[in-house]
Amino acid sequence: MAKKAKKNRPSTSSPFMQFGNELVGPGERKRIDLEVATLYDYTKINIPIEVIRGKEEGPTLFISAAVHGDEINGIEIIKRILQSSKLARIKGTLICIPVVNTFGFNNLSRYLPDRRDLNRCFPGSARGSLGSRLAHLFMKEIVSKCSHGIDLHTGAIHRSNIPQIRASLDNEEVKQLANDFGVPIIINSSLRDGSLREAARKKRVKVLLFEGGEALRFEEDVIKAGLKGCFSLMKNIGMLPQKEKIKKKKRVKKKSTYVAQSSHWIRAPHSGSVKQIKTLGDEVQAGEIIAVISDTFGNNPYNVRAKSSGIIIGMSTIPLVNKGDAMVHIALFSDSSKVSDLLQTDDEEII
Ligand SMILES: [Zn+2]
Repeated sequence: MAKKAKKNRPSTSSPFMQFGNELVGPGERKRIDLEVATLYDYTKINIPIEVIRGKEEGPTLFISAAVHGDEINGIEIIKRILQSSKLARIKGTLICIPVVNTFGFNNLSRYLPDRRDLNRCFPGSARGSLGSRLAHLFMKEIVSKCSHGIDLHTGAIHRSNIPQIRASLDNEEVKQLANDFGVPIIINSSLRDGSLREAARKKRVKVLLFEGGEALRFEEDVIKAGLKGCFSLMKNIGMLPQKEKIKKKKRVKKKSTYVAQSSHWIRAPHSGSVKQIKTLGDEVQAGEIIAVISDTFGNNPYNVRAKSSGIIIGMSTIPLVNKGDAMVHIALFSDSSKVSDLLQTDDEEII
């Protein structure tokens, strides 16, 4: 039987952490449902979370996925983290939230039932819209208890992203965490009003946003990159032990990471169907042809060219465009060829 929280329990001196009406003590692992709303038919809707507490003190990390309900690669990443035997050696507290936007998830949708974007509803309010209340609950129950966070995302529907970290690199500690995550590409991303990352920063919680793959897909390379990054970060913040010395000697040299100086989308110069010449992770030179748009007979071709030299970090996966549609996302680096080499040779070693 789960312990129930006593009212007015002084939280500062207690070794227990409270989530909803449940208490989790040191060394305990618990699945808890946070009640968030009631549907039209009076069915209760919950955010299911799992809390794993080590016996020893340490950082408190949340790992969340599906803030956008159709971005499911992160759900599989969290599933694999929760199945790992490594969690038996944890210090501090890990809070996993595989599905934050349970409404969108059950409808294969990015959004909430009222078409709001949950990632524009933070920090939310207890008396606001459904999204605002959900955001408020998430801040109160999860973020406010954490020192660190990882929010797992994918590209939007019909758009795919190469695995990348988005973070505010003006904070030195966040910058270090972004490097430690270990994916080759880091985008110095300004914060957006209403985002979980922005609200967490105001609470002095250090948060990384991982982006990889496409909505509504499980993509093995992306899942492996995210999984490896989460475990790497857990080691670097002292939540999990570093590898034993013996194994450390055998380890391949730590992979470099590169911070994009800027990025831009290339838009379709004409409507039509698309033959893609370059793909995700490819290096492109300024003026190089990255796709060809033609009519359905193969006539009247229009070349789509790169405006600058860089690396393709995101792209539309629908080979049909209207003039002006965003087709290819290119990031600029001080030395794109080094990034390209790294992407070509990146192995699948899971730490
Ligand atoms: Zn997202």
